[in-house]
Amino acid sequence: MGVDLVLRGRVRTGDPLAPVARGVAVHAGRVVALDEAALDLAESAGETVDLLGGTVLPGFGDGHVHPLWGGVEMAGPQVRDATSVDEVVDAVRRYALEHPGDDWIQGGPYDATLAPQGLFDARWLDAAVPGRPVVLQSTDHHCAWANSEALKRAGIDSDTADPPSGTVARRPDGTPLGTLVEWTAMDLVLRHAPAATTEDKRAGVTRATALLASAGVTWAQEAALHPDDVAVYLAVAVAGGLSVRVNVALRAEPGTWPAQRAEFAAARSAAAASPVADQVSVRTVKFFADGVIEAGTAALLTPYDDAPHTCGLPVWAPAELAAAAAAFDADGFQLHIHAIGDAGVRAALDAVEHTARVNGRRDRRPVLAHTQLVDPADLPRFAELGVIANFEPLWTQLDPVQTDLTLPRIGPERGARQYPMASLLRSGAVLSMGSDWPVSSHRPLEGLPVAVTRQTPSGDPAPGWIPAERLPAAAALAAYTSGVAYQAFEESHWGTVTVGRRADLVWVDVDPLTVEAGAWPDSVVRATWLGGRRTWTAGRVK
Ligand SMILES: [Zn+2]
Repeated sequence: MGVDLVLRGRVRTGDPLAPVARGVAVHAGRVVALDEAALDLAESAGETVDLLGGTVLPGFGDGHVHPLWGGVEMAGPQVRDATSVDEVVDAVRRYALEHPGDDWIQGGPYDATLAPQGLFDARWLDAAVPGRPVVLQSTDHHCAWANSEALKRAGIDSDTADPPSGTVARRPDGTPLGTLVEWTAMDLVLRHAPAATTEDKRAGVTRATALLASAGVTWAQEAALHPDDVAVYLAVAVAGGLSVRVNVALRAEPGTWPAQRAEFAAARSAAAASPVADQVSVRTVKFFADGVIEAGTAALLTPYDDAPHTCGLPVWAPAELAAAAAAFDADGFQLHIHAIGDAGVRAALDAVEHTARVNGRRDRRPVLAHTQLVDPADLPRFAELGVIANFEPLWTQLDPVQTDLTLPRIGPERGARQYPMASLLRSGAVLSMGSDWPVSSHRPLEGLPVAVTRQTPSGDPAPGWIPAERLPAAAALAAYTSGVAYQAFEESHWGTVTVGRRADLVWVDVDPLTVEAGAWPDSVVRATWLGGRRTWTAGRVK
């Protein structure tokens, strides 16, 4: 009896005992043979693919990504690649002309470095769309830029007070400028805009997971969702439209989290009882320990260089974060904590430590997401506490976000300690990679070389930015595959190409362990298989 599929060529298995194979055979969704044994099955295989000098890898995991709202955002004006305020405004103008029936225009993400200090003026958008409200979100989704009509409909004027943990940017005369910093402030406008419908969300998830599959991703950590939206993922999966497996993290809120516990457990049960439980799980609770350095909202141990009166805005009081973490852990959830500033990282580690102390030992695999600024005293705590350090490699380069927004805020000493990937790896911590898409590119083949070189696409700086924190290529690849599988508690199912494991595989046209790092962004994902089923074939869409 024949097997379903044989791939002939170089396979980087990720298995340290047999790292390279000459082929892989797949049957009924699983890897059934490797190397010579796989090639021997080619004759009778339903399909045989010659890898043409390319490489098969374990499917990539994305340890922190936002498919639902990124997919919804894809339906709005496309401003991601705009390189000036004028280009953003032009894209919005074109979209408005093409969509005369949209009452509100919502979209993004715009590059916050296109205006000094990330401060965007409502009047710039008014010039393109004066009569209808427009609100765009920045690439880090911690800021929004609204036009005057949106501010008016939201009732925001000089009398509007800043909400807790957020800021309404103002002109010298106190009137709102048009930029809203952090979620509480963004929400002052966004809550007046029409919410995405269930149909919008389903289309968004379908679109976004297809995009991830096109980049070779087979598993994604949906990083922050409302429990009501779990049904969106289940419906898309049941309809056969989910192109990657997804684990959902539900977002816990300070203050109201005790009431969320029952709701979160119900959402988890709904996924587990669904016929698509192998595609959608709800295993995780997401916390924001703090904001982002670019917006001055990351929590720092010592004040901001450019604002010596403030150490940022922690989202949770540390004691409440610890209590909530322990409660959700007791409910059996994994913790996934956004932690950017060194005080945010410390509060997150403290919360994990508290959780282990009160709930006892178990295999809990807590995740700190982003891990931007870590006090040296806290570095060993990741390995000690079993905390997975999640990084977004595309952020580990000296780009305008760093030079214009981040470094002026934290100065050179702290600036030279960001994203300590190699230090944490050496300390024994598990690393997992992510994109935080739509914050940055969803393509692992763009992120991988940055993790290895810490250079911009033009190769700067030559030795890499903070070169001691560059990762060896094999370690970076492992953090995109087996590291994320470990985060997913699914290392016995995927993350390496191993007989008996799922055939979640990607075929790329290069060898990521030997190719010149700078060339990777031009590389092509030729095909992606999820459980032996093709979710992507090159040539369809870019
Ligand atoms: Zn995120």
